[in-house]
Formats: sequence, structure tokens, C-alpha cells
Amino acid sequence: MKLVTFTHNHETRVGAVINDVVVDSKGNAEIHSTMLAFLTQGEVALKAMQRLIDSEEARINLSEVKLNAPVPNPQKYLALSLNYADHIAETGRERPKYPSFFTKQSSCIIGYGDAIHRPKVSDKLDYEGELAFVIGKRCHHVPVERAHQVIAGYTIANDVSVRDWQMHSATMMIGKSFDTAGPIGPWIVTSDEIKDPHNLSIKTWVDTELRQNGNTRQMITNCYEMVAYLSQAMTLEPGDIISTGTPSGVGVKMQPRGYLKPGQTVRIEIEGIGELTNVVIDEPETLPWLSI
Ligand code: MG
Repeated sequence: MKLVTFTHNHETRVGAVINDVVVDSKGNAEIHSTMLAFLTQGEVALKAMQRLIDSEEARINLSEVKLNAPVPNPQKYLALSLNYADHIAETGRERPKYPSFFTKQSSCIIGYGDAIHRPKVSDKLDYEGELAFVIGKRCHHVPVERAHQVIAGYTIANDVSVRDWQMHSATMMIGKSFDTAGPIGPWIVTSDEIKDPHNLSIKTWVDTELRQNGNTRQMITNCYEMVAYLSQAMTLEPGDIISTGTPSGVGVKMQPRGYLKPGQTVRIEIEGIGELTNVVIDEPETLPWLSI
């Protein structure tokens, strides 16, 4: 099942995508309108959505809706750095002793087709194509062998990074959390449809140039080990997003540097999930979400 958060006629709710239509949950008393509530409901919500899919009713053409980030407002958005050996090699850094997580503020999240802003304060804007997974069950102290049971599904993330600001502090947090630095989507592919999350090709293009070409089998810490590690420290909640690191080929390590410029399009493709596409623009004088 491909779960989406979408807007149609100024209303935002949860649906499922099948080919080029959205199965619309509008008016369905069994399906909550937000992805956080939907995921919290768990199996009950998934079964209700499956019934709606099977009914062959409530369809809207995909071209008529705006796809938002599937989870626009997670409680946590964590990302792992230095998790592909070839990326560690290109950075010239040591392989970390422990998984090196950092926080992306959830306010940076945008959806499929939304614009990534090149900030006024930096032209060192970079992409990182990544597999991300979404937690589906509140959990704590999850053993590796049961971690798959708490993952609702998988999506694509662009861990957009403002490289000079990233280096301002050891936490990297601000350089990873600029407004629009969190494209996610276009949907969550539920876990039952991803047979092995650790054998998926992952590619990133900037316009027509293939910049990253990896496979999730190259991850050092895999998704299940991430769940086990994190959940020893913190309760994971439905909707929490964990982005799993990027393979080699980031712009900052190209010669000359391949930083993102206004007018360029970043497209990340992950096998079995789909494509996440975003254009780059200069940070506007007036941010669209500010009323003053
Ligand atoms: Mg990253």
C-alpha cells in the first residue's frame, strides 16, 4: 500500500495511491485524516484503507491533488550520518564507533514537488538521497529481530544540507534543518511491500546528471539495528522518521563542487518506492507560509 497525505480542494487528509489515482478517505469514519493518527491506529486503519481500496470507490486522479510530505509533522525526525562506506571514504572521515545520529527539525519537512530554497546566507546547498523509514508502533527496547514489526513503511528522503552551516557546530543540526531542507515522499510504501529494505538501488540525479548510484545493502548500520539502538534510549512513536544515510556522490565532494543552484531539479529514485523530485529556487523575499 502506498500511503499519502494529500490536499484536494483545500482539505488535507490521508489516502492511498494506486497507479494514477488516489483512494480518498474523505468521510470515512474509520480513517483519521492525519497520518500520525492513522499510523497510531495501526492495523485497524490499514484494514479500513484496504477495504476502501477494494471497494473501487472514492477515487481522485493523482494529477488533481497536491501530495504533501506523507508525515508532515512527526514528533521526531532523526538522520544517520556516515552510514555508507563509500560516503565515509569521500568525506575522509573515520568510521564512527557508534551510529552517528543527528536531528533534523520537523519544520524543515516539505513534500513531493515543493521547492528547496537556496538560503540567503549560503550558496553551499547540497543534496543527500536517502532511504527513510517510518515508525508504526510506539516502542522501546526493541530487539533487532523484532524491529521489522515496528516499521510502518519506507519512503524517500533528501537530507538537504547547508554545508558551511553544518560545520558551525558538532551537532550539525542547524545546517541540516534550514526551512525546506527536508523533502520526504512521495508516499510511505508499507513494510509488507518491501521484501528486503537492505537491497534497494538508490540513485540521485541533479537535472539529467546521475550524481549518486548506490544500494541500501551498503549500509553499515541497517534499519533494524537503528531501531534497536535508538529504542534503547528513547521511546519511538508512530510517525517518527528515521533517515538512514547517503551513499557517495554528494555535491560538496565533487571537483568542482556540485552545489545546488536555482532552477535545478533533484530527483531521487529508490527501487520499490518511487521517485522524489524537488526543484531549487532562491529563498524568496517573503516566505509563502508567513502572513506578514
Ligand atoms: Mg544524510
